[in-house]
Amino acid sequence: MSGDIDLIAVERAVNGEMPAYMTTDEKRAAAGALVGNGFKLKEISERLGVRAVLLTEWFPQLTPQHLAPPAHGTVRAYRRHHRNGEKPCTACRTANSAVDRARRNFQPIPEELVA
Ligand SMILES: [Zn+2]
Repeated sequence: MSGDIDLIAVERAVNGEMPAYMTTDEKRAAAGALVGNGFKLKEISERLGVRAVLLTEWFPQLTPQHLAPPAHGTVRAYRRHHRNGEKPCTACRTANSAVDRARRNFQPIPEELVA
């Protein structure tokens, strides 16, 4: 299997000069080299033209770590209310106002309201 890999093609792809054709094994080898060099999922996907979903199957460590859903009474939760087309709850409105007020007055932003 690995004997069929064109190492020159892999090296070119890693360096950002995508060959006209690469086998799946070659793309996987190139992706592995980029992972080893600390490239991010999106960068590898764009450079190799490989779908992000496939990359995360090959290299599960690339799977983005999602942030925990925001608790009410924070700016993140306030924005989520809006995204979901909801009216923000009182706790979220209060947090958003407090952060707004702090920004307007050049005061430090309370960390716990932004998280
Ligand atoms: Zn809320």
